[in-house]
Amino acid sequence: MSIEHPSFGKLDDSRVIVFDTTLRDGEQSPGFSMNLTEKLRMAEALTELGIDVMEAGFPIASPGDYESVFEIAKLIGNMDGGPVICGLARTGRADIMRAGEAVAPAKRRRIHTFIATSDLHMEHKLRMTRDEVLAATAGAVTVAREYTDDVEWSAEDGTRTDPDFLCRCVEAAIKAGATTINIPDTVGYALPEDMARIFTMVRERVPGAERVIFSTHNHNDLGLAVANTVAAIRAGVRQVECTINGIGERAGNAALEEIVMALRTRPDAVPARPAHIRHENILKTSRLLSTITGFDVQPNKAIVGRNAFAHEAGIHQDGMLKNAGTYEIMTPESVGWSKSSLVMGKHSGRAAFRDKLRTLGYGEIGDNQLNDAFRRFKDLADRKKVVYDEDISALVDDTTRDQDRIKFVSLDLRAGSKAPPKAELELEIDGTVTLATSSGDGPVDACFNAIGKLFPHTAKLTLYSVGAVTEGTDAQARVTVRLDENGKMVDGQGADTDTIVASVRAYVHALNKLLVKRERTEPAALSA
Ligand code: MN
Repeated sequence: MSIEHPSFGKLDDSRVIVFDTTLRDGEQSPGFSMNLTEKLRMAEALTELGIDVMEAGFPIASPGDYESVFEIAKLIGNMDGGPVICGLARTGRADIMRAGEAVAPAKRRRIHTFIATSDLHMEHKLRMTRDEVLAATAGAVTVAREYTDDVEWSAEDGTRTDPDFLCRCVEAAIKAGATTINIPDTVGYALPEDMARIFTMVRERVPGAERVIFSTHNHNDLGLAVANTVAAIRAGVRQVECTINGIGERAGNAALEEIVMALRTRPDAVPARPAHIRHENILKTSRLLSTITGFDVQPNKAIVGRNAFAHEAGIHQDGMLKNAGTYEIMTPESVGWSKSSLVMGKHSGRAAFRDKLRTLGYGEIGDNQLNDAFRRFKDLADRKKVVYDEDISALVDDTTRDQDRIKFVSLDLRAGSKAPPKAELELEIDGTVTLATSSGDGPVDACFNAIGKLFPHTAKLTLYSVGAVTEGTDAQARVTVRLDENGKMVDGQGADTDTIVASVRAYVHALNKLLVKRERTEPAALSA
């Protein structure tokens, strides 16, 4: 069985479309916001990974969101073999026009429009009747088709929607010209059996279902997002919506790397797979996202966690040495883990450093940032015998970004048990270097007070955590700082062998992110 798709041409039943929403659902979750440069870096990495559709953002959310979707459509949407560029829209004409204009520069473009269909959402959130939602569905898809033939419609909270009404909505969307029908588990409530039942029912009952691609979008509130995704594919769904590292609203979305490796590892059970995913790029893409957002995955995270392929128990190690197949269902190399991680030292030169950055996913780093990173690398190599990949990632992640308004310059600190701490801090703010002196309850507090003097703000510190980048007392400290300003939440990261300097860098990073976020106004009802 095959269908004719406006963006992909003839699609047969063995093909799964990978729809990545790292830059939309992922990016809109707390602490994961990215600026334009960061989104473009991520978009390039996702293209190299081989995704089919890139949901680049929600254009009406803010001028910044519009601009990033537009720029991605222009740059990524015109690359040979690049993905379809998709913009999200509610059902209003203004939303759809904005999305249509934002994706216009792309060769292949999609508008994804959504409306809630569950009684709970229609009554309490939308305050709309069933007939009104049906009319809005048909209307939105019709308007979207004026901009592109590739239109996706989503039934928000679809898994908690009355089955008869769900079928009527899907039918209306198909009649109006939708080519992809997504039934999201918006709140992460469904079990794998539910997914199979819902998709089987809709595909059997709705006229025209055989002409469209069905899509699944799962949230991980019960830890079932990937299981639900696999169940949906087994029930005939041929588009999976997912994010790198499983980032996304609340507990996140289904993780792209887990879905594609499940399909690759179990062809016996799931007879469909993506066409273009380059599995060996998975780890690199995951690391790039961690670096950009400042959030590492947990060590036991499937596929990309530090322990995902580590065999500690003696009996396992013994088996592994005799035959890797005894305990390994896939090889670490197949997702990009290399056997030897080249370590760098103080004799490593600039060329080797640049080369290392490239292998770590920092191909497009600017000259200023490279100089700053190299200087800090040499400085680190003087203090620390071996510099690992993680050290370099932490350090580059933390180098001054050219567009940052606030930059760390220097810190002098007196601390200890004899006298109150005293911090002397220099920051460069909008190009001018100023100095402030402050005390506090401890050295970190003293430094943060000094930042407040230099750049007054009302944001509250709601999280402060310190971790080590690698093992040993000479390891770099990696500090995360979370700031909250009237519900706008950002996380900043900083790394240094000096924990207090890392703390200041993290705070400054968070402030810079907050300044970017202040320009955004989030519209209501963004879930999908
Ligand atoms: Mn979602």
